[in-house]
Amino acid sequence: MAGPTTRTTRSRYGTGGDDSLAVYTVAERCRKCYSCVRTCPTKAIRVHGGQADIIASECISCGYCVPTCSQAAKRIRSALAGVVSLLDSGQPCCTMVAPSFPAAFPGLEPQSLVGALASCGFDHVYEVAFGADLVSCEYSRRYRSMEANGGGFLISSPCPVVVSYVEKICPELASHLAGVVSPMEAMAKVIRERLTAPNAPQPGIVFIGPCVAKKDEARRLGIVDEVLTYDEVHELFEARGVDPAVAPAREFDPPRANLGRVYPLAGGLLRAADVDTDLLESPVSIEEGSVRVTDLLLELASDVRHGRPVPTKFFDLLFCEGCVGGPAVSNDLTFYERKRNVVSFIKRRGVVHDQERWVEQHAQYLNLDLTRTFTPAERSEHPVAEHEIQAILARTGKHDPEDELNCRACGYDSCREKAIAVSRGIAEVDMCLPYLISRLEQAIDELKESQSRLVQTEKLASMGQMAAGIAHELNNPLGIVLMYSHLLKTQITDGHDGHSGEDVERIVREAERARTIVQGILNFARENRLELRATDVNALVREAARGVASLDPANRAGVEVHLDERLEEQRVDASQLRQVLDNLLKNAVEAMPDGGTIAVETSLGDGAYEIRVTDTGPGIPEKMLPHLFTPFHTTKGVGKGTGLGLAVCYGIVKMHGGSIRATNRPTGGACFEITLPETGSSAGESFV
Ligand code: SF4
Ligand code: SF4
Ligand code: SF4
Repeated sequence: MAGPTTRTTRSRYGTGGDDSLAVYTVAERCRKCYSCVRTCPTKAIRVHGGQADIIASECISCGYCVPTCSQAAKRIRSALAGVVSLLDSGQPCCTMVAPSFPAAFPGLEPQSLVGALASCGFDHVYEVAFGADLVSCEYSRRYRSMEANGGGFLISSPCPVVVSYVEKICPELASHLAGVVSPMEAMAKVIRERLTAPNAPQPGIVFIGPCVAKKDEARRLGIVDEVLTYDEVHELFEARGVDPAVAPAREFDPPRANLGRVYPLAGGLLRAADVDTDLLESPVSIEEGSVRVTDLLLELASDVRHGRPVPTKFFDLLFCEGCVGGPAVSNDLTFYERKRNVVSFIKRRGVVHDQERWVEQHAQYLNLDLTRTFTPAERSEHPVAEHEIQAILARTGKHDPEDELNCRACGYDSCREKAIAVSRGIAEVDMCLPYLISRLEQAIDELKESQSRLVQTEKLASMGQMAAGIAHELNNPLGIVLMYSHLLKTQITDGHDGHSGEDVERIVREAERARTIVQGILNFARENRLELRATDVNALVREAARGVASLDPANRAGVEVHLDERLEEQRVDASQLRQVLDNLLKNAVEAMPDGGTIAVETSLGDGAYEIRVTDTGPGIPEKMLPHLFTPFHTTKGVGKGTGLGLAVCYGIVKMHGGSIRATNRPTGGACFEITLPETGSSAGESFV
């Protein structure tokens, strides 16, 4: 969890989405970067269909996701239109400014800011810090009473994000929240009491501050009409044509604030409540910043759940790094410069010069009811079962703990957290970047392979076309040569000497060989189709192996057959598959003129089966391997073989949806592996 760091110049305010939250999403702008998921302290973001939407029941309106989103897809609900219409309504209208304002308007004197707001149309401009003064007295009273009675601990409640975090995420701590209203609510009560005359219209009240969550608090309370952030105040000046630098200076309306002005700084509440914050002596803890505050609250919630004692008596918490580091304060000042501006304002104006007057004004409101209650959420989330987490991790290739990279690219701190979010339906499996990259690499490999297959197929097709054309043209003259050479042979044998007879015999033999080659070319080139029938592949292999005897009359090659008996009938074109086996076995026999062993095997794999033909011959020359299935590439000598046998095998296996590959065995000899998809043996024939 990190605080908001990215500043963007695009407008971060708007009026879309549903009205229940101060922050909303412009869905069409979301570009799936998951930065908002990474930043959100409560992971209140559901990614669905690649878009990151806000889960209202878990959003604490911290506003951190807004500056984080570089696409301006996360926006703050704008109050500008509401404020302008309030100002133009004719009803009395006043505003109150939070004590962090010196951090947001550097270089502008407080009187100029007040004057500019008055020029916008506000009848009165108050300091929220006076409400903080009243609240501080209430804190002081409660702290002393707790000290006197012993036991328990309190969590401060002026920060609406801390309150929301407790109510929604750690409801077991709700009873420890100090039941004291925020300075905004206290000041709104003061204003209503000051300005509401009998039968007079209620004044419109606008709060100005650094906090996005105040918009939700105001809507819930109904006592403040609108909330403007400091950024929106700049927009208001623009909309009303007011230049604060030249606006007539004016003081804040009374009642003037005192030490309540230190509230925006960590520990300010305790300072104003006059509680000792000595590090060694006092049982108080002051924390600021989302990481430290959420860690602390989660730890406290666990202590409360398990009945462990909590030695600290009071936790003064601000969710941002002081109110000066909130997401709606955007200027170029560093955190320390902002803090310095607030401190210097307090030093110049902090302690009211007329203490008596302050005490008098303060006393007027001591009877205001400053108590409040909280509404802890009912959390009914069940823990996700371990087997479910493991199953989700496995879907992104995380089978062992070392596969869990915990790189946070998905927005979650660990792969496990993300898997839990997937099971809760707020994250998607595809959010894992390393998984997507590996899928992309795999897809590229597959694409490359299918491209090379396509090239091979196209090559075969065009060669086949050309070969068919040539073969067709050769077939006729070759038929005539054969016919006449046979005729000539008969005539010469009938009446001439044996020498001429031998010559003619050779012409006949070579012409017949030429015809075989031409026939082979035509077979290769013809448009092939399969007749698929349920076939006992093991029986087919066994029969082909028996046929080796006719290929090897001298019986030099021994044949071993190893069949996987689990292999059931498959739908194949038996005669064409047999042709493939015969070709491979013939090649094996011819590769071992001095004898050797041929092994034919079948094996059943996962959704596929293999037929392997290996021999113990010299193997295939390495440079031939890439071209082995290309027509007219042959390892046999000139005049031996057409160079089409393996190309035909390749075509037949491919038509079956399988693959064939040739390798050299490490122990010597060639190995041909045919892989075919397991089809089962459904009845009937089909043609492909
Ligand atoms: S930060 Fe969130 S809303 Fe913005 S683009 Fe990234 S995923 Fe979408
Ligand atoms: S406003 Fe805060 S809690 Fe809500 S979604 Fe954004 S980062 Fe999360
Ligand atoms: S490896 Fe994937 S699931 Fe794990 S943290 Fe990184 S992106 Fe998230």
